[in-house]
Amino acid sequence: MLIDTHCHLDLVQSVTRLDDVLLRASDNGVHIIINPSINLDSCTEVLQITEKYSFVYATIGIHPNEVGKVMLQDVIPALESKLESGKVVGIGEIGLDYYHQDTEPALQRQCFDLQLELAITHRLPVVVHSRNAMQDVLTHIRNHYSPIKAESLAGYNGVLHAFEGSMEESLEAIHYGFLIGFGGPLTYNNALLKQSIARHLPLDSMVLETDAPFLSPVPMRGQPNEPANIRIIAQKIAIIRECDIKQVETQTTINASKLFHFGDAIVSA
Ligand SMILES: [Zn+2]
Repeated sequence: MLIDTHCHLDLVQSVTRLDDVLLRASDNGVHIIINPSINLDSCTEVLQITEKYSFVYATIGIHPNEVGKVMLQDVIPALESKLESGKVVGIGEIGLDYYHQDTEPALQRQCFDLQLELAITHRLPVVVHSRNAMQDVLTHIRNHYSPIKAESLAGYNGVLHAFEGSMEESLEAIHYGFLIGFGGPLTYNNALLKQSIARHLPLDSMVLETDAPFLSPVPMRGQPNEPANIRIIAQKIAIIRECDIKQVETQTTINASKLFHFGDAIVSA
């Protein structure tokens, strides 16, 4: 069984019929999908999708590129009111984006802080987006979380989705209880750094994601991405690590289940 830890089904449905997409996902062994929200409207839309499909779960949050469109003081009460849904498994996607110029960095940092505090208050993992901002993202992580001890049995604090950093930065994130998300870009010919990180990190620090409908893996580039393609990412990691795809499938599913508090029952299902 595979888990797509980052898939925007609310955006996928505007390009492809959701029933078809989800059938193909299931045919490829993808039996759980996490759908992150990017703003308050998308939280509502995503929660509607989770009500319709039992195997789809939501994270709720304001994406850094959307921060400028909300009143900061409204963010936490609005998100808190949605936490009661049994399908919310985390806060995200939240973070910092200094590449797109949609929102002032200082405002992004304030909103990131508020949402990290919300996650910690409610003991929820975070789904973090970083674009040209990895050092600042790590500073926020250090400010809000403690390093995880090797012998700790506690769960993970979050995931750095579509990881953009260096080997050193990935190790620091892991030290603070974060998982590293790998998706389509890992399959690109020029993705040598990502491939080297995917080869050397311990398998228990990695999760798989499509970020559909974006970032289709090779050989699906040019087509809308979809959760069925998680199998291509798992296969790529198996090739890079010279191991069996089964091993990648099992361990990344255990990691994602632990991250989103699904428990062992799901992994053995
Ligand atoms: Zn995303």
